Amino acid sequence: MAIYRQDSSAATFRPHDSPDAHSNRRPRVVVVGAGFGGLSVARSLKGRDVDVLIIDCNNYHGFWPLLYQVATAGLEPESIAYPVRAIVRKYQNIDFQMIEARGVDFEHRLVLTHREPIPYDYLVLAAGSANNYFGNDALAEQTYSLKNIDDAQQLRNHVLWSFERAVNERDPRRRAMLMTLVVVGGGPTGVELAGAFVELIRHVLQHDYPMLDVSEAQVILVEAIDQVLMPFSPKLRSKALEQLRHMGVQVRLNSVVAEVSNGRVVFKDGSAIDAGTVVWSAGVQAARLAEALDAPRARGRRVQVEPTLNLTEHPEVFVIGDMAYLEGYKKGQAYPMIAPVAVQQGKRAARNILARICGKPLHPFRYADRGIMATIGRRAAVLDAFGVKLSGYPAWLGWLFIHLMALAGFRNRVIVLINWAFNYFTYDRGVRLITGARKMVDNR
Ligand SMILES: Cc1cc2nc3c(=O)[nH]c(=O)nc-3n(C[C@H](O)[C@H](O)[C@H](O)COP(=O)(O)OP(=O)(O)OC[C@H]3O[C@@H](n4cnc5c(N)ncnc54)[C@H](O)[C@@H]3O)c2cc1C
Repeated sequence: MAIYRQDSSAATFRPHDSPDAHSNRRPRVVVVGAGFGGLSVARSLKGRDVDVLIIDCNNYHGFWPLLYQVATAGLEPESIAYPVRAIVRKYQNIDFQMIEARGVDFEHRLVLTHREPIPYDYLVLAAGSANNYFGNDALAEQTYSLKNIDDAQQLRNHVLWSFERAVNERDPRRRAMLMTLVVVGGGPTGVELAGAFVELIRHVLQHDYPMLDVSEAQVILVEAIDQVLMPFSPKLRSKALEQLRHMGVQVRLNSVVAEVSNGRVVFKDGSAIDAGTVVWSAGVQAARLAEALDAPRARGRRVQVEPTLNLTEHPEVFVIGDMAYLEGYKKGQAYPMIAPVAVQQGKRAARNILARICGKPLHPFRYADRGIMATIGRRAAVLDAFGVKLSGYPAWLGWLFIHLMALAGFRNRVIVLINWAFNYFTYDRGVRLITGARKMVDNR
């Protein structure tokens, strides 16, 4: 049984109570974050001679690549999230607690939390990422984001609520504004979201609101540089742009947002768009926890790690996934903030912890790059994997299959498959509910 099963275990830990001093105590590994990286660490340590405690401020593991489908009423939130306890209960040496980490006392080997500090022998920090507003904090207040389940529900509620308000809006300018959505950021999340919003409006809301002239509705994707989907090859990028425009997304390239205020998006060149919904997906940085660490940080507040994924000054502390900054990807760039990197770093961190326990040398992280993909809409995607570059229908089928298989939990896979089939054959979306979690922005 894991030592962390009782709440009191953390409180009674004495810092000098090291596994070396009492050889009959197993090393304690604390993992902060039950995301792609954290769960990969835990799974790699299952059944090994260590006690593992995962902590997370949520009690679920979120499958973020499908989050945009929750925001656009395609999937229920429950179908892309899985309770962490349901995962860890299978393993005798792994436990979970729903706790928020607030910092780390490296000297005394304690994770500082909103409750008692939690002692560790080995620590893995895998708290993921947060939006980056590049110092313009007002953007956080004035825009919607898409980083977790609450964000996705708020966004869905707000878009549907805006259409409800449009029904009773007499002023044509305000009515058009309520039906205008601006997505800032032409990376995979922005592209997927813009494509899915257009489909929601054209296939579903058009029929739900026969009293509205839905041709007034606009989905505008804004990108600061001259192309979308930067990580893809130039050919796939232009295919994606073509597909987006063909679907009805207005793509505004070379447009830098200077300010968003009360629904008015003002660009650096002085032009402006009035929109009922503005979504920010233009920047990402390491989770806030990174800021609280006394450790060197790189761009996007990501924590600098050794090639073996641990901190130079504290070799028993590993940082992985979106939180970690390590160069060595293509042309010496830092590894990107994507799920496969987090999963593979999780495995390497776990192996290096076991190596340290046995006094063996640690191995550097090596990434097996299996490619990238993004969906744009119905039968439209781009895929660059295993040396094959695809766009359109075959890429979309590949995207569907890979994402379905990667979801945690058999139940979730079945539910998502049924939802996708329903959406595909009926052109409908079953989840267009306006529920409690609404960020009220009626002034827009
Ligand atoms: C909308 C969206 C779409 C994406 N699409 C793709 C895609 O298509 N393909 C792809 O490869 N990648 C995609 N990504 C990126 C991918 O999800 C991340 O790279 C990956 O999740 C990183 O794994 P991680 O373990 O570092 O962080 P996460 O998986 O985000 O897990 C971090 C965990 O830490 C928890 N946490 C955060 N702070 C604390 C704290 N202080 N205390 C306790 N717990 C904390 C969080 O609740 C979360 O469970 C997407 C991300 C988003 C947001």
